[in-house]
Amino acid sequence: MDADVIVVGAGLSGLVAAREAYRAGLRTIILDQEGPQDLGGQAWWSFGGLFLVDSPEQRRLGVKDSFELAWQDWQGSAQWDRFDGDQPDDGWASRWGRAYVEWAAGGKREWLRELGIELTPMVGWAERGDLTATGHGNSVPRFHVAWGTGTGVVAPFIAAAHEAVESGLTMIKHRHRVDELITENGAVVGVRGTLLAPATGDRGASSNREATGDFELRANAVIVASGGIGGNHDLVRQHWPERLGSAPREMVTGVPAYVDGRMIDITADAGARLVNQDRMWHYTEGIKNWYPVWPGHAIRVLPGPSPLWLDALGRRLPAPGLPGHDTLGTLKLLRTLPGLEAHDHSWFIVSSRIAAKEFALSGSEQNPDLTHRDKKLLMKTRLGKGAPGPVQAFIDRGVDFVTADSVAELVAKMNDLTDEPLLDPAAVAEVVRARDAEFENSFSKDAQAMSVHNSRRYLGDRLTRTTKPHKLLDPSAGPLVGIKLHVLTRKTLGGVQTDLSSRALGPDGSPVPGLYAVGEVAGFGGGGVHGYNALEGTFLGGCLFSGRAAGRSVAGL
Ligand SMILES: Cc1cc2nc3c(=O)[nH]c(=O)nc-3n(C[C@H](O)[C@H](O)[C@H](O)COP(=O)(O)OP(=O)(O)OC[C@H]3O[C@@H](n4cnc5c(N)ncnc54)[C@H](O)[C@@H]3O)c2cc1C
Repeated sequence: MDADVIVVGAGLSGLVAAREAYRAGLRTIILDQEGPQDLGGQAWWSFGGLFLVDSPEQRRLGVKDSFELAWQDWQGSAQWDRFDGDQPDDGWASRWGRAYVEWAAGGKREWLRELGIELTPMVGWAERGDLTATGHGNSVPRFHVAWGTGTGVVAPFIAAAHEAVESGLTMIKHRHRVDELITENGAVVGVRGTLLAPATGDRGASSNREATGDFELRANAVIVASGGIGGNHDLVRQHWPERLGSAPREMVTGVPAYVDGRMIDITADAGARLVNQDRMWHYTEGIKNWYPVWPGHAIRVLPGPSPLWLDALGRRLPAPGLPGHDTLGTLKLLRTLPGLEAHDHSWFIVSSRIAAKEFALSGSEQNPDLTHRDKKLLMKTRLGKGAPGPVQAFIDRGVDFVTADSVAELVAKMNDLTDEPLLDPAAVAEVVRARDAEFENSFSKDAQAMSVHNSRRYLGDRLTRTTKPHKLLDPSAGPLVGIKLHVLTRKTLGGVQTDLSSRALGPDGSPVPGLYAVGEVAGFGGGGVHGYNALEGTFLGGCLFSGRAAGRSVAGL
């Protein structure tokens, strides 16, 4: 035996699982195909948003939340519907969902605090939903942003891994790519793989796949923590569900190339059951990064509620295609509305005032104030006038951004960004006029205008995320900004089916001895804790919860 436990993947879920294992005194080996610069995986790049229920931060902002409301929202979003047969695909997924919401409303915040993960006072209202009480979406703001963003969430686990290495209990082996799980007598007893040549690039850059040798390691338990498929467009297309229409021909990429999904089939080959692979979480507000780190690197705009959203032909999106409301509902509209199949993009039109206050960019490097815990910069960025530096950089340098003083000029520039001039300036001007007419009063029959007014009633949004309602053609709010939006691949909602101890289950529903799966590769727990839709801030949390469960289980706790 080389160790008690082998963890495949040094992202957040793997590091959390490893921490539990070596805290219990188990000899642990952490393997990753990337170099030391990538320790922490995607979580390091993340915005650090965490789903919590009925927290002091919410209460301070006047939000009344409860487990019951959160569970109603979770079920309305998950819409689990696969309960047929002896081993239903959603059997463990729904149990994970319930356990996760209980944790988010219970011990999660205290556990984070004990680890030294601190929360900013900001509670964002992500995924406001499909405009129904029992359907998809957060009834109230629950997106708690950690100080340090994703770097702050992953820091205690990186520190713990380094400490464990120093104590001699743990080894981290970089550039070790696992190609096979070794099974003997039906049990997983180790891994085989390829040694890769050192990687010299920056964090997040794609690395070489030059083989320099191979390796074999054995342990009592193997925890697969290898992430999802978002960096592999072939796999995204392969699993793209019919209910979302056809996959776009061109997509942009919201995760590093190492999120390649390769370990998923390798884990299945060792006896694990895969479920719900057609459930994924991709964003419709991707913008191409003007300084890309990984191939096809794009950033997701986390929009406030005010941007005017047009399809590729210049038609305003119907509800639930409202900014910040319903990610997959909007994706479905864009992939199924008549006339759109041949087009992969959509458009935001905003005033500069809206861009300045309502555009947040997802990612640690896009939020230097929060990532570097710079409170002075935070006040200036979030409460001051003008766009935050990273947003302004995109307006100035991003290939998807155009600005103009009139709709006619803006549309001409927008048409220059596509192969064919698909937008009719007169038709777009009419859409803008009709939208603006709905912003004349402090009440409206327009769903988006209602949502903007509603948003302003929440203190957190009024202070930092939602502009005072105004007309796009108000000259004092200009110039106009047009943004070409792409479908951005990100998260995997299905995967290895696991029980509440993160033990990987076989086709007959019994655990595969020695095999565990955590984080995104396990659909963040159970093979689909989110069901069809996520409430946001639930992915990092899913890594923490499922990684902790696996680590405790191998440690016999
Ligand atoms: C820009 C961005 C913003 C985000 N913002 C948020 C947010 O605010 N809130 C939220 O909840 N979530 C957010 N997320 C999502 C969240 O960060 C990820 O879902 C989560 O970190 C995934 O962690 P993981 O441990 O499952 O996988 P990963 O972080 O992908 O780690 C998997 C590791 O396994 C390694 N690996 C894969 N295959 C092999 C193999 N065969 N052999 C050896 N090693 C292998 C990879 O190299 C990688 O290091 C964001 C993600 C991104 C990219």
